[in-house]
Amino acid sequence: MRAEGIETVRRILCVFPRYTSSFGTFEHAYPLTDGVQAFMPPQGLLLIAAYLPENWQVRFIDENIRPTTKEDFEWAEAVFVSGMHIQRHQMNDICRRAHAFDLAVAIGGPSVSACPDYYPSFDYLHVGELGDATNELIARLARDPSRPERQVVLKTNDRLPMTEFPIPAYEMAEMTKYFLGSIQYSSGCPYQCEFCDIPGLYGRNPRLKSPEQIIAELDKLRECGVTGSVYFVDDNFIGNRKAALDLLPHLVEWQKKTGYVMRLACEATLNIAKRPEILEKMREAYFVTVFCGIETPDPDALKAMHKDHNMMVPILEGINTINSYGMEVVSGIIMGLDTDKPETGKALLQFVEDSQIPLLTINLLQALPQTPLWDRLEREGRLVNDDNGRDSNVEFLLPYDQVIDSWRKCMEVAYEPEKLFARYQYQCDYTYSQRIKVPVSPEQKSWTNIKRALIMLRNIFWKVGVLGDYKMAFWKFALGRLRHGDIEGLIGSSLIAHHLIMFARAASVGQQNASNYSIRLREASVPAE
Ligand code: SF4
Repeated sequence: MRAEGIETVRRILCVFPRYTSSFGTFEHAYPLTDGVQAFMPPQGLLLIAAYLPENWQVRFIDENIRPTTKEDFEWAEAVFVSGMHIQRHQMNDICRRAHAFDLAVAIGGPSVSACPDYYPSFDYLHVGELGDATNELIARLARDPSRPERQVVLKTNDRLPMTEFPIPAYEMAEMTKYFLGSIQYSSGCPYQCEFCDIPGLYGRNPRLKSPEQIIAELDKLRECGVTGSVYFVDDNFIGNRKAALDLLPHLVEWQKKTGYVMRLACEATLNIAKRPEILEKMREAYFVTVFCGIETPDPDALKAMHKDHNMMVPILEGINTINSYGMEVVSGIIMGLDTDKPETGKALLQFVEDSQIPLLTINLLQALPQTPLWDRLEREGRLVNDDNGRDSNVEFLLPYDQVIDSWRKCMEVAYEPEKLFARYQYQCDYTYSQRIKVPVSPEQKSWTNIKRALIMLRNIFWKVGVLGDYKMAFWKFALGRLRHGDIEGLIGSSLIAHHLIMFARAASVGQQNASNYSIRLREASVPAE
């Protein structure tokens, strides 16, 4: 549904801020593609864009793709911004630029919802999810779009049920310029891991869209040109297992109908390995990747962070089970935990080798506001300012330099090209081979898609295979893929591998941040207010 009963017409500029360079946004892969410029389309801002009154004009800009221009600001009557903590400085900068045109600026999304104090200059703070605060914001702007005298904070008390969410305005985004498509089925997670802000922000009882909404969204994504991978951004795809089982047959049917036009991915807890009935349906729906927050292979550490559910099956066994359904596991790993010991880095590298997981996001512990971890560290006096070059806002129990050195060493060794491609080779042999055989969809057979693949192959062969400095490892892997006629696997693995190798190299010499969540400023950032 949309906001209704508003007569006045307004022009709203929705601006999504740039990301600071990070491990999880794959920007080193973009130059190898046919013009990808950004990671995923922002669900929240596109949802708001779709919810605004039908007669309002909306312009959407993702600053990862192009900057907002003078003409955009002159066109607008008000500006909406949304983003995560890592984009904090960029969001404040958009506000400063909009104010130069005397425009009212509203901010919503996860960062302001957790930390309204981060955004003192904005005119409107929209705290919480889509709901009564959104309606109030729209009503106020309809009455008067000029800047209010002082900041107005609007908090959602009554959330709009997700079954009434409109389809995000994907048509406003340049969908083919994104590395991945995105979609959301549920919000919230029943667990309470100490470091995680999801249960606090979105609740422990997952809210849901209907399977019919998801199918309509997939149709729309397809209409907008998305044919590759689509990521379910749900905090935990099996947060409500019955809901996952309700949705999956619809996805299977849709994939069959469209000729398996999309490869699906999601985030889920590792105990999904105990649910063969879900895994089997996911295989049929062509889920090819599952991101699991494994965090650490150390059982004592999992207990301490209240992530006992990761131990419902032995970790390596759980990963093998997921692999056996054709799904590659991507793992989140955290270093700098209170339970870490001097030999933790070594144990982690052993785990990387044993698990054969190619892609692990290895981050340093960062305390997020509104988490039990934040509260505990605050009580213990162990929260520190990370604006001045520190890689984390946590005072570790081990010496800081030792933790950073250990992180850098892990990044360096885990992403040595030979080791990384060997793990991808393992995935080809033991995971990808377990996938269902899907037909070639009409979109995949299209000239547009063939041209895209040829451009990417040319870029990969030239920039990695000829000019690259890890060409031996690359060709060893690539020739195997070519012999199997697996062009899709070759392109997919090579793109990700290139990002991981480049990012890890920068990280191991101290040029990259050790935390995906830290807001430490980097060259891609803008001046703070
Ligand atoms: S399982 Fe994942 S989403 Fe849920 S609380 Fe833990 S870290 Fe957060």
